[in-house]
Amino acid sequence: MKLDSMYQDIILDHYRHPHGKGLRDGDAEVHHVNPTCGDEITLRVKLDGATVADVSYESQGCSISQASASVLNDLVVGKTVGEAQVVQEAFLELMQSKGQGEGDEEVLEDAIAFAGVSKYPARVKCALLSWMAWKDATAQALAQHPAVND
Ligand code: ZN
Repeated sequence: MKLDSMYQDIILDHYRHPHGKGLRDGDAEVHHVNPTCGDEITLRVKLDGATVADVSYESQGCSISQASASVLNDLVVGKTVGEAQVVQEAFLELMQSKGQGEGDEEVLEDAIAFAGVSKYPARVKCALLSWMAWKDATAQALAQHPAVND
């Protein structure tokens, strides 16, 4: 897999120094696996009203999956659920672009480094693992607080 070297540095930096790793208090917990690569993540979402107060996780697997979870933590914590969903959808779109998408850096920040990954179908699942786990956990957390509406 060949990625732009600057983007590769961003991914490796998140892999080596993951942001927000470790399990903390949460409203919902999910466990997702990517059997094709062997990546696993246990992820918890803590909401404070309509705000994503924390995303904590324990994960193992390849550098792409690990870095993606770190970037996810950076991008969604502190945002409202609605704002975070916009980022999640932009990342999903980038990952489904088969190498054609560039992504909006204003929205995606470090997640833009995964643009090259979208050329490799087997690795797309690695990059999306934590984001799908987040989406699932957030839906469960929201279900516990039906009064919360962004
Ligand atoms: Zn992987």
